[in-house]
Amino acid sequence: NLEGYAPICLGLEDFYIRRLYLRIQDCFGRPIASAPDAWFDMVERYSNDHNKTLKRTENVARCLNLGSYNYLGFAAADEYCTPRVIESLKQYSASTCSPRVEAGTTVLHSELEDCVAKFVGKPASLVFGMGYVTNSAIIPVLIGKGGLIISDSLNHSSIVNGARGSGATIRVFQHNTPSDLEKVLREGIAEGQPRTHRPWKKIIVVVEGIYSMEGELCNLPEIVAICKKYKAYVYLDEAHSIGAVGKTGRGVCELLGVDTADVDVMMGTFTKSFGSSGGYIAGSKELIQYLKYTCPAHLYGTSISPPSAQQIMSAIQVLLGEDGSSRGAQKLARIRENSNFFRSELQKMGFEVLGDNDSPVMPIMLYNPSKIPAFSRECLKQNVAVVVVGFPATPLLLARARICISASHSREDLVRALEVISNVGDLIGIKYFPAEPKKE
Ligand code: PMP
Repeated sequence: NLEGYAPICLGLEDFYIRRLYLRIQDCFGRPIASAPDAWFDMVERYSNDHNKTLKRTENVARCLNLGSYNYLGFAAADEYCTPRVIESLKQYSASTCSPRVEAGTTVLHSELEDCVAKFVGKPASLVFGMGYVTNSAIIPVLIGKGGLIISDSLNHSSIVNGARGSGATIRVFQHNTPSDLEKVLREGIAEGQPRTHRPWKKIIVVVEGIYSMEGELCNLPEIVAICKKYKAYVYLDEAHSIGAVGKTGRGVCELLGVDTADVDVMMGTFTKSFGSSGGYIAGSKELIQYLKYTCPAHLYGTSISPPSAQQIMSAIQVLLGEDGSSRGAQKLARIRENSNFFRSELQKMGFEVLGDNDSPVMPIMLYNPSKIPAFSRECLKQNVAVVVVGFPATPLLLARARICISASHSREDLVRALEVISNVGDLIGIKYFPAEPKKE
């Protein structure tokens, strides 16, 4: 009952949850007038009249961007990627205007699928025009009536959507808790017993690499071991982890030492670390072949735009050093250093910060929903743009500000942001722990 407004207050002037009679104004509710790099221009005043034409140059404030998922800084002009994207635009245009199986497969599409499969460590991959659609369209193709989906309680809406649309039985396990997963698996298997000698046609366990509202890394090694024990398939959504973590950016499997052969379906999006759009599924050759013939989103949806495909390939080439520079390795080192520095400084100041080391996503707990607009507004007054999140994206009393760190933030940017956030924290009273004394 949100009347068309998104739960996350980015890009909204008014955020109105009718059910709660709660009016939260000015929650980072301004359109962005420039590309979302480390700094961007945010339109200062934008009336509630959504029909009003927005003038690009009017009332623009330059803000430090702690809000978008531009983890590696590829969502800005890049000396290697941008000229190649422009070239692909000239050669192939902005859209194929056709599904893959009709006239929508260019050379770039097949090159991209080889490149993604190689990068994530699977034999084959299939790419889609949108990350959300990748989950919501693929899950129903993989499983249906007579199947059992066991889903982490905090999985993304696109996964929930796909699971609900599949017709399979859905069970939820306690967020990122392998012991509860095992309990739910056992109960699920027992529940399916009367069927035949095999309780379910198949069981798929769905988890994420990094949870975007919690900043936590998945307990993948234990989850994979349990799935092996109970012969369940593992479906891993790496939207926030691919490119962002792991020595060479290959995500949580690389970071946590999990063999990609033990993850049956690897899903990810290109909208975060790669600064592009679209999503992928990577898996065995047989799985990808099956999806190519059966997935309606692949058969009937327009293929990913060629310049987006080129951007992804170029970004991966930079990460792998195939551009002839060490920029990729530097970006990966930088995002890790930036994330770990920012997290530990926030903790030293007395904030309650969720999530794990190495994760570029760090929620600062606000708890009380009334602190949502105050935090956002006070940060914005000092030109720091932070996404604030409340119900229904989180439980009502677990409101938070969600910081996303990027490799394109300089140390000075982060020090300034910490200063602003510290002042705002004192002002609105959200330092729930004693601060660590500063070293002389
Ligand atoms: N999966 C997860 C875990 C996500 O967080 C998101 C979006 N942030 C998606 C899928 C959907 O991806 P996209 O925004 O690229 O459509």
